Amino acid sequence: MNTEPRKKALRYFFEKVVEPLGFKFTPDAELKEFLLDQEVTLEAKHGIPFCPCQPLRHDRARDMRMVCPCIPFHRAHFDAIKRCWCGLFVHKDVLDPNTLPQLEPKDVGLE
Ligand code: SF4
Repeated sequence: MNTEPRKKALRYFFEKVVEPLGFKFTPDAELKEFLLDQEVTLEAKHGIPFCPCQPLRHDRARDMRMVCPCIPFHRAHFDAIKRCWCGLFVHKDVLDPNTLPQLEPKDVGLE
């Protein structure tokens, strides 16, 4: 499957959604392209670009909170760790995403 046309559309759409939330695409270009490839594949299978790093539970209410970009549903956690779970998006001021610890919500005072 040629994922490029859909990846281009997702890049455009996602940027419009995450930018006002204070996020940007990761500067790690290889990771970004890998994750977008995964999302296009998931979208082709399910009709929705689900998160590539979270398992589907076939619980619609729960799974719809894992549609990319899921930042609005998990904003407090992602703001605390300056990245989303997959690392596709990071806070705008992040230059090196490898310096960001991947902490659980409980580790940052949530839940
Ligand atoms: S964790 Fe990141 S890549 Fe995964 S759905 Fe949420 S915003 Fe998208």
